[in-house]
Amino acid sequence: MPTMDSDPNPDNPAASVSFFRSMPGAAKPAMASPVLPAVLPGGIDIPAWQARLLAAGVNPNRIASPDLIGQLEQAKTTTIVSLICSMLDTDPSVSLNAAIAESCTTDMAAGIDVLAKLTSAPAIWITADPDKPSDWFNEVKSRMAHAGLRLIPLRGDYPQTDPTLMLFTLLQCRLVPGKLPASKGVLLVDAAAAVAVGRCALSDSPAVETPLAVRDHFQRRTHLLNVPMGIRLAEVCDFLEIRNVDAVFRAGDFLRDLWITPDTPLGNGELVIHPTARHLDANPDPCIHCGWCLEACPTRIHPAGLLDAAQVKDLRAARRYGIEACIECGICSYVCPTRLPLLTAIRELKGASG
Ligand code: SF4
Ligand code: SF4
Repeated sequence: MPTMDSDPNPDNPAASVSFFRSMPGAAKPAMASPVLPAVLPGGIDIPAWQARLLAAGVNPNRIASPDLIGQLEQAKTTTIVSLICSMLDTDPSVSLNAAIAESCTTDMAAGIDVLAKLTSAPAIWITADPDKPSDWFNEVKSRMAHAGLRLIPLRGDYPQTDPTLMLFTLLQCRLVPGKLPASKGVLLVDAAAAVAVGRCALSDSPAVETPLAVRDHFQRRTHLLNVPMGIRLAEVCDFLEIRNVDAVFRAGDFLRDLWITPDTPLGNGELVIHPTARHLDANPDPCIHCGWCLEACPTRIHPAGLLDAAQVKDLRAARRYGIEACIECGICSYVCPTRLPLLTAIRELKGASG
């Protein structure tokens, strides 16, 4: 079976779509059949489906696919006008959602079908990156069309998969960072979440496996895997022979700088893991007022001002500089030429403001 264990050129999109290999204990994913069953088992009752998903261990909750059970809870009292399923990947060297969409199209279409019926969403948006190789895009588009679904081309530039940006780009809808999309009448899932829901609908049995991408920054390799649901990160690293003693593990988008420990169970949270060397110490140099962080910030707020506010613990100034609109993407920290700890300062401010 083909694997994606090497990455000679991470900028080459042709190298970015591949298949999975299975860890012991995880079944190999069935390749997609273009046929979606016309009638899915189960009713279309939200509480019953919440219970069913929880019983199956399906409770996706990650940045690009926020708390599904919570979104369904809000859908009981909020009219859902749009269902968005995102097949986007913001890192060209880790195309997990693209690989899932290609290898599990039937399950994904079934999951979208269930969620559309549950919420009575009149509009369904399935976003796919048109910059992916044309054979991938056309193949997925044709399979989706077979299931009666249409793809919306949308580039996956980081941090496009953030719910706040996704809702604004597609629907010009302003979602406060950290709030669930359902509060704005939108149910948002990624491809992996749609597949998990679809498998629950089609098999009505507990989830036993989950897709996972490990971007090994030591070897500059990406591994796409099927792993047993709930497996600890340490076991996956052992399987992949990633044994660097001082490795740290970031989950999800690299720039968000969200660390997890080797004991973290995997499945419903972030599905992209970055083992890397320990981070460099914070730079004591001052801000040189270059303005790069302002130019790069996708929400057009003032990261350097937030850093100033953090240093004097001034929450009123932080609000003036726009902290409530920060999506914690980490781009400001990334572009800062003096490597100032902007994201860390912003998180401290947010923690202090409750
Ligand atoms: S983390 Fe930085 S770049 Fe990202 S939204 Fe917040 S201030 Fe802007
Ligand atoms: S990018 Fe860094 S040095 Fe430049 S203004 Fe922002 S915080 Fe200051």
